[in-house]
Amino acid sequence: MRSTLTKSSLCLSAFFCLITPAFAADPLNLLLIDGQNNHDWKRTTPVLKSFLEKSGRFTVDVATSPPAKAEGSAWDAFRPDFSNYQVVLSNYNGELWPKPVQKALEEYVSGGGGLVIVHAANNAFPNWPEFNRMIGLGWRGAGFGDRVTVDDKGSVVRTAKGEGPGAGHGAQHEFSVVTRDRQHPVMMGLPIEWMHAKDELYHGQRGPAADMHLLATAYSTKSTGGTDAHEPMVWWIPFGKGKVFTTVMGHGDYSMKCVGFQTIVARGCEWVATDKVTLPIPKSFPTADKSLSVE
Ligand code: ZN
Repeated sequence: MRSTLTKSSLCLSAFFCLITPAFAADPLNLLLIDGQNNHDWKRTTPVLKSFLEKSGRFTVDVATSPPAKAEGSAWDAFRPDFSNYQVVLSNYNGELWPKPVQKALEEYVSGGGGLVIVHAANNAFPNWPEFNRMIGLGWRGAGFGDRVTVDDKGSVVRTAKGEGPGAGHGAQHEFSVVTRDRQHPVMMGLPIEWMHAKDELYHGQRGPAADMHLLATAYSTKSTGGTDAHEPMVWWIPFGKGKVFTTVMGHGDYSMKCVGFQTIVARGCEWVATDKVTLPIPKSFPTADKSLSVE
């Protein structure tokens, strides 16, 4: 009798081991911000929320701003309490936030909070200097700041403001993403090169790019309307005690369904929040020749 009991409790624990994520840590609280974007945020926010929650590592709250040109008082209610969250993810590209919200985000990140910027979120707030420092490079004109690319030998090249192209992108297409820092916790174990689902390949991003750590690039071909340069796709920047992690991938919901995109964003969120990455790289991952998307 005793041995039967032991056996069934063993089975039970094995069962729970199977359904419980590999880490025992409490989920991280993540705040996703949307509400204005020249992109279809009503379609992309659910994709972001879904894969982050499915990872088992996050609980996701969404703070939606008032719509564009809302009455002044509509913004009074938009006061996200960043201090409740270990990571803030911006899917927002719209009107400048009220001063108290700007200040709250600056204090949150400089105090050690994590901020993650996806695609057009780096188009926002050109006139907010601290935001430009946080993101390093944004969708700005050539005269705004430096440009960063990588040459064929893998060396980082800075182009001074005013020289070369400003922000843009060619026709959407699938493109190859090259890992540039294989030792970084988010990138460790990723293929050196993998095929990303159809997306816009941003080029000519501009900004102060101070303390910028470049993690991945993509080659922008002339034939798709690009720049003939290896353009930054993923990078991070320290801001006070906090970290800001950016990927310019993620134009459409179809781009965000890419397993590579989801892996990098989820691991990036975990890393800015905890300084560590426990989320695994999926066994099925895009290869150098073939993209891979999930519903
Ligand atoms: Zn876009």
